[in-house]
Parts: sequence; C-alpha cells; structure tokens
Amino acid sequence: MKLLNGKELSNTIKQELTLEVQEMTKRGERVPHLAAVLVGDNPASESYVRSKVRSCQQVGFESTLIRRHADITEEELLEIIADLNSNRDIDGFIVQLPLPKHIDENNVTLAIDPKKDVDGFHPVNFGKMAQGLPAFLPATPFGIVTMLDRYGIETSGKECVVVGRSNIVGTPMSILLSRKAKVGNCTVTLTHSRTKDLRAHCLKADIIIAAIGIPNFITGDMIKEGAVVVDVGINRVDDTSKKRGYRLVGDVDFDQAAERAGYLTPVPGGVGPMTVVSLLMNTLRANREALYE
Ligand code: NAD
Repeated sequence: MKLLNGKELSNTIKQELTLEVQEMTKRGERVPHLAAVLVGDNPASESYVRSKVRSCQQVGFESTLIRRHADITEEELLEIIADLNSNRDIDGFIVQLPLPKHIDENNVTLAIDPKKDVDGFHPVNFGKMAQGLPAFLPATPFGIVTMLDRYGIETSGKECVVVGRSNIVGTPMSILLSRKAKVGNCTVTLTHSRTKDLRAHCLKADIIIAAIGIPNFITGDMIKEGAVVVDVGINRVDDTSKKRGYRLVGDVDFDQAAERAGYLTPVPGGVGPMTVVSLLMNTLRANREALYE
C-alpha cells in the first residue's frame, strides 16, 4: 500500500505558492488576501479557520479573520458579507460552516459574490463546475483531484464509488470525477444513506471516496484488492490517552484498508491539508482574475 501523503504534498504546493507570491511582490503587485468569517465557538470550526489563516501566513498571503458571537443575526452577517463583497483589498472569503441554527446557510452562500466565493459553494460556481466551465471548485473535491493528479493516479475508465452526497464533498466529487478531464472520465456511482448493499458497490470500485462522517465506517471487506481509497472523514473519538481527550479518525478503518488498498489517505494528514491548500489556490486565482477586471 502506498500512502497518499496530503501533508507532504500540500507543503510542496505551499512552497510553489510562496515562490509565486515572491514574484508578485517583485512585480509590485498586490498579494492575495483571504478573509474568513467565524461565527460562534465550535471547536472544530475554530481549528479549521486557524489552520487556514496560518497557511495564508506561511505562503505570504494576507489574511483577515472576522469573529462574531453565535448570537449574531442573519441580517448582521449578511451586512458583513456585503462589505467583504465590495472590499477591493479582499480577493476571496469564506464563511465557516456550520452556522448557528437561526441563520439560513443558503441565504449566506447566495449572498457571497461568486467572484470571491473561494469555497466554491455558490450555485453559480457549482453550475459552472457541472458544465466544465472555469469556476472555483469546492476546496475538498479540488484537493482530492489535485492529489490524484500529482500522484499520477490514472482515473480514466475506472469505476469510482463516492460514499456520501453532501453539497460540499460527495456530490461535487461525483461530478468532477465523471467529467471529461485529465482527472476524470470515471464511471461514478454516488452512494448515500439509502443505498442498498453498499458493500457490493464498494467492492466493484477501483477508487473509493468516503465522505460520510461515521468513524471507521468503510471496513476492509468493502475494499477491492489494490483500490485507491480516499478518506475524507474527520471524526473525533474519545481517547483518554491523549492530552486533549480525543483523537481524529477517518470514515475508513485505516488498519483494515491498509491490508487491501493500493493507495490510501491517512487521517489526519491526508485530505484535510489538501483542502486548505486548495482554498489558497482558489484565492490566488481570485487575485489574478481581479487583476484583469
Ligand atoms: P454530511 O454530514 O453532510 O453528509 C454525510 C453523507 O453521508 C450524507 O450524504 C449521507 O447520505 C451519507 N451517509 C450517512 N450514513 C450513510 C450510510 N450508512 N451509508 C452510506 N452513506 C451514508 O457530510 P460531509 O459534510 O460531506 O462530511 C463527511 C465527513 O467528511 C465528515 O466527517 C466531515 O467532518 C468530513 N469533512 C472533511 C473535510 C476535509 O477537509 N477533510 C471537508 C469536509 C468534510
């Protein structure tokens, strides 16, 4: 089994981005600037946003973190978004999900200017992606595509099973892998909570993308010998031996999968860092596109 090391690959891409920022600075151009809006104090969201801001600093991007209490109203949040949309110093921004229950996430996503939607969640970007037009790709699927590309994994003609149909991972992943593209041309099956005999589907797969949110859900007996297994899951399970009281595990039983898979992503250190670096790549792209407006 070969490990798909997202941490190492994301560091390589960060070095490439750093060089690009240095070139931009030499040319006297404004460097990319990402803003992140964090509402409430969800510990997982805090850690994701911290890692996004830290990654911006590592590559020389500007970053702005806007924090608000969980009791912010939807109107107030929409005002912040309107300000970010019109702020010419900011190339792209994200509103970290999930949001408190009293805020409609759809209204928030729709309010973001698609030109600054570096998470790729706005229906305009989603629609362009589905049609194969240039668009901001959602960060996690974009990271997975980049990983398959950089590791030279052939996808054309392969059977791919995506487990989970969320708007941010499973569904866009199924679209990207079935597109006519360098990483694509797969025959994709999108499976979900109502799928019958998931194991039979998985066993046919040359590539499995697991995005379910249930620890160790994909077991060794669901994996075909030599398959590429990409584990998107990030689940906290109690672990008293750890200082923080928990450890992170994926949606795939790593030890069992390691016995069967040809390629496998670890958790942590697989898809997570690729998601963050994809956000940086989208922000760079937003910055370049703003230059020619
Ligand atoms: P979600 O919670 O929105 O949806 C889960 C999906 O799993 C649903 O579509 C559901 O149909 C499917 N599902 C549930 N039970 C199932 C079952 N028994 N059989 C088959 N399918 C089933 O998912 P999400 O937002 O895509 O997140 C999935 C996981 O990925 C979570 O652990 C999340 O933390 C993680 N995640 C990681 C990253 C990253 O950067 N690595 C990014 C986003 C999400």
